[in-house]
Amino acid sequence: MKPAIDRNVELFERASRVIPGGVNSPVRAFKAVGGTPRFVTRAQGAYFWDANGQRYTDYIGSWGPMILGHGHPAVVEAVRKAILEGFSFGAPTEREIELAEEIIKHVPSLEMVRLVSSGTEAAMSAIRLARGATGRNKIIKFEGCYHGHADALLLKAGSGLATFGNPTSAGVPPEVVQHTMVLEFNHIAQLEEAFALHGQDLACLMIEPIAGNMNFVRASVAFMQRARELCTQYGALLVFDEVMTGMRVALGSAQSVYAKSIPGFEPDMTVMGKVIGGGMPLAAFGGKRAVMEHLAPMGSVYQAGTLSGNPVATACGLATLREISRPGFYDALGTKTRTLVSGLQSAADAAGVPFCGDSEGGMFGFFLMDKLPQNYATVMTTDNKRFNTFFHGMLENGVYFAPALYEAGFMSAAHTEADINHTVDAATKVFRLLA
Ligand SMILES: *Cc1c(COP(=O)(O)O)cnc(C)c1O
Repeated sequence: MKPAIDRNVELFERASRVIPGGVNSPVRAFKAVGGTPRFVTRAQGAYFWDANGQRYTDYIGSWGPMILGHGHPAVVEAVRKAILEGFSFGAPTEREIELAEEIIKHVPSLEMVRLVSSGTEAAMSAIRLARGATGRNKIIKFEGCYHGHADALLLKAGSGLATFGNPTSAGVPPEVVQHTMVLEFNHIAQLEEAFALHGQDLACLMIEPIAGNMNFVRASVAFMQRARELCTQYGALLVFDEVMTGMRVALGSAQSVYAKSIPGFEPDMTVMGKVIGGGMPLAAFGGKRAVMEHLAPMGSVYQAGTLSGNPVATACGLATLREISRPGFYDALGTKTRTLVSGLQSAADAAGVPFCGDSEGGMFGFFLMDKLPQNYATVMTTDNKRFNTFFHGMLENGVYFAPALYEAGFMSAAHTEADINHTVDAATKVFRLLA
C-alpha cells in the first residue's frame, strides 16, 4: 500500500531543486528505468527502508561495499571507537599501516599500496603512476569498463584503432583523451593489432577483469592470458581495476580467480575500493615496489589527499576485512549467490522467459537473453522495456536490484535463505508479466 503522501516523490522534488537531477551520483536516479528514486532512511543487515517506510531486500549494497550487510556489529563498534579518537589528523596513523598490510596479505601481486578516498582517484592515480614509471603516454581501456570519472578514462571507442577515442562526456577536451585507446572486451585479434601498432608507446592496459559496469561480463581466460603476454612483451603495465571485484569475488580478488586457470598469473598494478572501505570513502592502488616507489614523496609522480587513509574509514575497512577473512566466508557467500542466480533461472525457465546469469563470490549478473554476452555491444542489445518491467515488478515486491540493466548485483553475508526464497518467489510472479 502506497501512503497518501509519497515521501519519496516529495524528497525527489525537493532534492531536484538543489542537487542536479536530485542525486549525487547519476546511477541513483531512476532515469534508465523511470519512476522516482527511493530515498533511504536507514539500513540493517540485508535490508534498507525508504522514506515511506517500505522495506527492500538490498542487492546493490551501496554498489558493492556492504559485503557484510548493513550495520554489522563488529564494524559499527570499530567505527564508533575510531570516531571517539578523532575524525582526521593529516598525519600518519598505525591503522593505515594495518590496513595496507591486510590488503597486501590477501593479494599477493601487491607489495605496496597507497590509500586514497575513491575509486576514481585510485584509477586516475594508477594511470599517472603507470605513465610516470614507464615514461610512456598511451593507455588501453575497454568498451563497457568503467574506471571512475577521471577525464582520460571517460571515452567511448574511436572509429578505428589508430584514431583513439572520443570523449563520452561534455567538458573533456579531445586532447585529453588523445592517448587513450578503447578496444572491444574479449577481442583477442584487436588487442594484438593494437599492441603491434602502439605497443612500444603503451604505459598500461587497464581492465575490469570481471566487468561489473556492463552488468557482469568475464574477460575470457584466453583473452586475459594474451593481455598478460602482450603487456610483458611490450613493457606495458597490466592494471587490474578491482574497485568492484576486489575482495568481492574472492578474498584474493579477481586476479586469484584467473591465477587458478593461468599458473603464476599476476597483474602489475591493482586498483581497489568499495569492499576495502566497508562503506566508508576509501580506495587504494598498488603494485610492485619498483613501480610504487615512483610515487611522491619517494619519486617524481605526484599524488596526495587531505583525507587519504582517513582514520574512521580505515577502521571501517579493517573491521570489514577481519570479518571477510574468516575461513569459509567466501564459500558461504558464493553458495548464496549461486542459489539466487539459479533460482532466478528456474523462475524464468518456468515462465518461458529468456534468461541467463553468472556469478563469482558475492557478485552476480543476469540478462534477459539466452546466452551470456561477451562484450558491451551485446549487453546493450538487451530490451530496455522488458528490463524495466522486471525491475519495477521486483521493486513493488520489496526487492531492490540495480536500477539499470548494465549494472552488476551484490550479495551480502546478511542475506538469508528466506531472503533469497522471497526474491525468487517475487521473480516467479514478475516473469509471468514478461512471458
Ligand atoms: C565504482 C568503480 C570505480 C569508481 O569508484 P568511485 O569510488 O565511485 O570513484 C572505478 N572502477 C570500478 C571498476 C568501479 O566499479
